[in-house]
Order: sequence, then structure tokens, then C-alpha cells
Amino acid sequence: MRQVTGWTGDPVWLADVLRAEGLPVVEYPGWLRRGHGDFRDIRGVMVHHTGSDHATAASIAGGHPDLPGPLSQLHIGRDGTVTTVAAGVAWHAGAGRHPWLPTNMANWHTIGIECANSGTSPTAAHRTNWPDAQYAALVRTCAAISRRIGVSAARTIAHREYAGRAQGKWDPGAIDMEILRRDIQVRIGSADDPAPRPAPTQTQT
Ligand SMILES: [Zn+2]
Repeated sequence: MRQVTGWTGDPVWLADVLRAEGLPVVEYPGWLRRGHGDFRDIRGVMVHHTGSDHATAASIAGGHPDLPGPLSQLHIGRDGTVTTVAAGVAWHAGAGRHPWLPTNMANWHTIGIECANSGTSPTAAHRTNWPDAQYAALVRTCAAISRRIGVSAARTIAHREYAGRAQGKWDPGAIDMEILRRDIQVRIGSADDPAPRPAPTQTQT
């Protein structure tokens, strides 16, 4: 990570912002120094499932000889625990395209969230096999990040919406993205937000 004063490209604020959202946060050892270099600019969030209900944060962090990690910045367990895994760029998005992203460059512009979930199947109904705690944590995590970077829920996308089924990507399985985005948008504007943004009339320092 660069030490340039004022440079804020990497999301070193993740743990603080998620805690302020009321989420149980675990900071994986070394997460602030982990990554494949630095972000360009952060434009949104990309949601994934790990493919296994039991995938651990450690498996996302990598660090083992046979793993190229980090595979995302965040891991959300089935109990709703959010683990910050990396502040730098992670290999989660791969090749793909989306209107607000440069082609094949999502890794440098989106925060990746890996949810410990099998995904069930590409045709499973919304929230099949998604525990309440995990889904609520996903909504709050996306909302907190969106609020921090100043974007709406429209900037939360599925891996499948970027990479497409043609590349065999269908994650996050059993998540209807329109419903997820609606839930995130409600949360972004939530009146009982424990960490509301300062009112516009307030003096900024
Ligand atoms: Zn994925």
C-alpha cells in the first residue's frame, strides 16, 4: 500500500465503516497490507458466493502455496460475521464488462464480497439457503460501502452480471439482484442508521 499523504485509493476504512454499521467485524491478520497492488478508484461492489457453505475467510485470504489470494476484500460467514481480508486489489472479478466499469478491469474498481454459500443452483428462489444473519450482513455491508463511496445501490452488482453466464458465472446463487439492491437502497437511507452522514448544514473539517 502506498504511503502518499492524502492518497485514499485503497479501502483501508472498511473495518471502521462496517463496525459503524453495526456489523460484527473480524480483521484478518495482515489485511491492510494484503492485495495485488492498489485500487484505481472504487466505483462499486461486486457480490459473490464461495461455492461452499463452509468456505473460511482464510481460504479467501490465500497465503497458502497453492492459493493465489486474496480472492476478495471481504468474507461474510453464514452467521453474519464480516471479515476484512484485504485492502488491496483482489482477484475476484476476472474478465467481464459493465456500463460503469472498464472492460476486464473490475478488480481495480470494485470491492469484492465473498459470501460463504453454495449458491444452491442458478435457478433457486431468492434467499434459498441464505440464513437471515448472512443476508442481513450482506445488505448492511453493501449499504455501508455505498454510503462511504457516495453511490446508490445501483452500484452493487452480481459477478454474473459482469462476467455473465457465458463464462460459467452465476454467483451469487439464489440472490435476486433487484431485490437485493432494493433492500440495500432502503438500508442506505435507513433512519435508524447508527452512523448517519453529517447533515449538509454541518461544518465540515
Ligand atoms: Zn464470483
